Amino acid sequence: MAICEILSVGTELLLGDILDTNAQFLSRELAARGISVLRRTTVGDNAGRLRAALQTALDAGDIVLITGGLGPTADDLTRDVACELLGFPLQTDPEIAAGLRAFFASRGMDMPQENLRQAQIPVGGTVFPNPNGTAPGIGLKKDGKCVILLPGPPREMRPMFYESAVPFLKEYTDGVIVSHTVRTMGIGESAMAHTVADLLERANPTVAPYAKTGEALLRVTARAQDSAAAEALCAPVLAEIRRRLGEKVYGLDLNGVEEAVVALLKAQGKTIATAESCTAGLISKRITDVPGASNVFQFGAVTYSNEYKEKILGVRRETLERFGAVSEATAREMAAGIRRLTGADLGLSVTGIAGPGSDGTDKPVGLCYIALDTADAQLCEELNTGRSDRAFNRFYNASHALDLARRYLERRGCT
Ligand code: ATP
Ligand code: MG
Repeated sequence: MAICEILSVGTELLLGDILDTNAQFLSRELAARGISVLRRTTVGDNAGRLRAALQTALDAGDIVLITGGLGPTADDLTRDVACELLGFPLQTDPEIAAGLRAFFASRGMDMPQENLRQAQIPVGGTVFPNPNGTAPGIGLKKDGKCVILLPGPPREMRPMFYESAVPFLKEYTDGVIVSHTVRTMGIGESAMAHTVADLLERANPTVAPYAKTGEALLRVTARAQDSAAAEALCAPVLAEIRRRLGEKVYGLDLNGVEEAVVALLKAQGKTIATAESCTAGLISKRITDVPGASNVFQFGAVTYSNEYKEKILGVRRETLERFGAVSEATAREMAAGIRRLTGADLGLSVTGIAGPGSDGTDKPVGLCYIALDTADAQLCEELNTGRSDRAFNRFYNASHALDLARRYLERRGCT
């Protein structure tokens, strides 16, 4: 059985300012995979003590998992110390550097020079992408030892653990591991965790919440002699999660809510057409990412300006003048208009302020209306992320619009 040490880096941990929930999470998840955590160590943001702690951990075991200190500032030392100790030279990766610049540009900010440190990657190491932040993780393997560097913030660390560290650790895991991911929409990570709080204490399967691109997920992991036995351990827990979260659950092991929508449309023999303003084609892009989408999707309109909301979708000028482009009335008329134009069974629309700047009205950045028009119902919902992050808002609004269609189809399918 592989022996592992968890190394938590951060002076604020030593001062008691924050609780080391990363170590708790990693201990449980590693145990579930048959990796023994024999020691946990905490060190402050100090290069000498970090180096000594890492050396001790490497002498004692096979795997060291380090969290924290991957950020851009001078006290973020983990990358430099670990790569130097293991003998991996650092080199600036142009693609990551470009990604960092784009990340800052999307928020309307200039990138501080020191952030470029996060684009330094070890030659011969493995880079773990970080969709929830700027610091990539790192995996190093040398002389039978394995060192994994993950960011400190739990909302970045957990998804990276599942998506990158777990595959990187594959050769060390023991028994057969089966993992399922419950995908939800319309519930926050902490509310979801509260609803299933007792299940989070379980050992086999483990149940762990995490967040990804505006969605809360639950990961259920079981270990057993063979996959059938592991599946049998997961099944009742998955059923209980579904029972408690009800309609919030849109699927199991899906890549996104668009997969649920396409599957439901296919099963019910229905079609959808989209009218998008602030998402500008992202919904139709996501629908057509799903193989077989041509059975259910034929047309999507990007009506970014008021002029084309009127011309293409027949939104009334009075509506636009009286309520504005970002309004419930406009969203409803867009959805009805695209359905009238195409004859699709579902007309789905979205209109909002993606940011970072305002639309020149007093409406808040992050406000969005989504609407669905069908032969038997017209639904409209108001969203407000409260954020000015353009890429996030667009993805979030697209997800919720798709989920409006998903919930309609599920309810219809039940009756
Ligand atoms: P950043 O890019 O945010 O600086 P980082 O990888 O450098 O990330 P740290 O600077 O060490 O990480 O920590 C950033 C924040 O992440 C901390 O302020 C704390 O909120 C959280 N954090 C760090 N380590 C832990 C931990 N072990 N358990 C829980 N939260 C943690
Ligand atoms: Mg930091």
